[in-house]
Amino acid sequence: MLEEILAGGAKALGIALPEKALGLYRAYYTALTEANRQFNLTAIEGEDQAAYLHFLDSLAVLPRAELAGKTIIDVGTGGGIPGLALKIAQPDMELTLLDATEKKTAFLEALTAKLGLPCRCLTGRAEELGRESAWRETFDVAVARAVAETRVLAEICLPFVKVGGRLLALKSADTDGELEAAESTVRALGGVIAAIHDYTLPGTDIPRRIAVIEKTAPTPERFPRRWAAIQKKGV
Ligand code: SAH
Repeated sequence: MLEEILAGGAKALGIALPEKALGLYRAYYTALTEANRQFNLTAIEGEDQAAYLHFLDSLAVLPRAELAGKTIIDVGTGGGIPGLALKIAQPDMELTLLDATEKKTAFLEALTAKLGLPCRCLTGRAEELGRESAWRETFDVAVARAVAETRVLAEICLPFVKVGGRLLALKSADTDGELEAAESTVRALGGVIAAIHDYTLPGTDIPRRIAVIEKTAPTPERFPRRWAAIQKKGV
């Protein structure tokens, strides 16, 4: 059951969940499954999978990053992962959920209001919004899961991050190659791959990884480039 998996998983991660959290994860799961009947929001099969692969996978960020009171942007959030799952555990963070698909951000707008978890929901391409002064270099932390390989991810996420802030990329464990391939682009963007945390998702044998990319200098004006250029090659 979702509640048991999350309570046990949080304990294994050393996280104290707020009193309301389990009820909120249940409501979130129900909303995801209902929305999935209308459009393809997320690939989840059943509450155990959602508990492990969505909620606990998101929560695993918390022991490895200080998010209390921080401004966070979840880039390519889809159904709200990892951002909204983190907000339930850490309600005092100031969260922005960004996705290119209006249907998804509309779902999240309604859901976060219903759950009483105020978030800003932004619709648009990250590489376009990251050029706007309203958003550029205004966040303490960017988070992302399953959006793009690290090199591409860095270019669409680091422009949002303040100098001194960081990008937390939730990755599978077999990403040594893509992390290495991202190094020169990350440097050009004003970042550095500062840490790689490898761990097993509690209650499973799934190896997971969080790559921490620190922003040490402002991102030069020419980034992010257009999507086609970003995808074609690094710098
Ligand atoms: N992070 C979620 C969703 C992953 S699917 C999870 O882990 O479950 C990838 C999502 O990123 C999709 O919802 C897609 O619309 C969004 N996306 C991909 N490229 C994007 C871009 N350049 N700007 C904004 N959103 C993007």
